[in-house]
Amino acid sequence: MATASRIPSPDSKGKDQHHAAMFTAHGVGVVDGVAIGRAVVMGTTALEVPHYYITTGEIDSEVSRLQHAISEVQADLEAQKTRLPADAPRELEPLLTVHRLLLDDPMLIDDATQLIQNRRYNAEWAITTQGQQLIEQFNVIADPYLRERQADVRQVIERVLMVLTGNGAELTQNWPDIATDQDLIVIARDIAPGDMLRLRQSRFAAFVTDLGGATSHTAIIARSMGIPAIVGVGNVRRAVQDGDTIVVDGQAGVVVVNPAPHVLVEYTQKQQKYAAHRKRLEQLRDAPAETLDGIEITLETNIDLPDEAKIAYQAGAAGIGLFRSEFLFLGRTTLPSEEEQYQAYAQAVKDMLGKPVTIRTLDVGADKSLDADQAVATNPALGLRAIRYCLAHPDIFHVQLRALLRAAQHGPLRILLPMVTTMTEVTATQHALQQARESLLNEGVQLDQDVQLGAMVEVPAIALALEPFAEALDFLSIGTNDLIQYVLAVDRIDSDVAHLYDPLHPAVIRLLAQIINVADRYNTPVSMCGELAGQEELTPVLLGLGLTSFSVSINQLLTIKNKVMHSHSNDLRRRVAAAINRAQPVDLERLGEGQLYRQYASTKNKFK
Ligand code: PEP
Ligand code: MG
Repeated sequence: MATASRIPSPDSKGKDQHHAAMFTAHGVGVVDGVAIGRAVVMGTTALEVPHYYITTGEIDSEVSRLQHAISEVQADLEAQKTRLPADAPRELEPLLTVHRLLLDDPMLIDDATQLIQNRRYNAEWAITTQGQQLIEQFNVIADPYLRERQADVRQVIERVLMVLTGNGAELTQNWPDIATDQDLIVIARDIAPGDMLRLRQSRFAAFVTDLGGATSHTAIIARSMGIPAIVGVGNVRRAVQDGDTIVVDGQAGVVVVNPAPHVLVEYTQKQQKYAAHRKRLEQLRDAPAETLDGIEITLETNIDLPDEAKIAYQAGAAGIGLFRSEFLFLGRTTLPSEEEQYQAYAQAVKDMLGKPVTIRTLDVGADKSLDADQAVATNPALGLRAIRYCLAHPDIFHVQLRALLRAAQHGPLRILLPMVTTMTEVTATQHALQQARESLLNEGVQLDQDVQLGAMVEVPAIALALEPFAEALDFLSIGTNDLIQYVLAVDRIDSDVAHLYDPLHPAVIRLLAQIINVADRYNTPVSMCGELAGQEELTPVLLGLGLTSFSVSINQLLTIKNKVMHSHSNDLRRRVAAAINRAQPVDLERLGEGQLYRQYASTKNKFK
């Protein structure tokens, strides 16, 4: 094979720049906890493959080399699906299917073939170039869930490259050297779903990835595994070597590589403290979530997949405050059928054994995977998202509403509408719900139980003019993740402006106070399901604002309960009222939470 005009790999340097000395790296901590162990660095090939021109006579063999590699990866992905154990996360099988289907995508394969034929790129160079183009298209999608699907393209290409470069054995490799007493920590550029499965089966203590955000599927599976994890660290994989000692502080989003002895001692103590703290929290599972002055607080949880309902119940959740149904729709090429959706919703309802389950209708944006013809919106955060998308796609909405009504026959189910802005959207939804109800009744389906209908309060317009919504709807849920981004005009996923994403801004606090007051006046239950609700540093402020219902991740449930049980609600209400009048960012120091304020400041990146 010709190797003329070799182009050096863009970052072939750096590999040797290993630091034996201690250094730290920061990312987004997605699961709390401290782990200390030995690094297992997962290899990557995408940036290290040979780039060279082939001769005209080599074109055919190079094309067939690419095709052969693709077939091999497709066969391996199919084989992985058949090997999935019964307790594999639900999303794994569809993700493996998506990976296989990506390899049928002409945009990837035909165009890569043309690069070989027309530009005489070698196969590795062609597939990497074409993959990069696909990834760039994902980069302009505003919706974070969808944008992170670019990771799937990257992972598929990595697999093809492994076969092309003769490292195909890695596709089915076993994890190295786990016969050790030391905890092992996976360091990777990104982790493919199939690899996550192996990770789940092995005894790894934590993982750290260069890529990914808080909503990437890697992060989602990590949460379900409950081991400390940090994603989006940047380039830690290239700086760490196999065998390095690693500390992972999932709460702070900090990775310490080769810690000095005194740092190691410090983190060992922190780890022991954290374990003891979790153990103590376990005792609170069945305790009532009540403040010191006897105010009862409802503590529910957020889930992304139906399997998590069982865990939520066991953790003592009072209900599911937010089931993000879009996770059933994403990362696949076909929409989930009514039956599939019904099964998923019904499973969550049944597993909660009579406790309420709040299911949010599809919350997607300008979404290629749901509608291939839809162009990417110029400003997708303000575009055809969430309830707007559903009302513009009545067929999709109808199927979901039918599935929800059917699932509601198994227990209390509440339907939550995302991104509501006008009352017209509420009445249109009520109408769509009535149509779904009638279509089921016409088919002889019994609907003895009805559903409650509520709205997310996450657009400033509804927050500022809440009265008609509070009157018309059964309940409200404050989505602070979006509300704060729209009130402060700060993109919630743009790390360049993350420092401006301030939940304590007086505008945010006043708006929250107003929402809670109006809901109270109308006797409409109001909860908070945004990330703010799970931040223990801010629990005093939220209690002080009069919030009595929180929906948080399962991991945070007992932490928040503990915080509630040590708070005096009326006292906090007086102090927060005084703080609001000062029109300054609420000063937690003045609430007697000075220690916590510093902690909060250091974990701000969690609000991304
Ligand atoms: C929110 O916006 O606060 C919310 C809970 O919804 P999501 O994070 O899914 O947009
Ligand atoms: Mg939202």
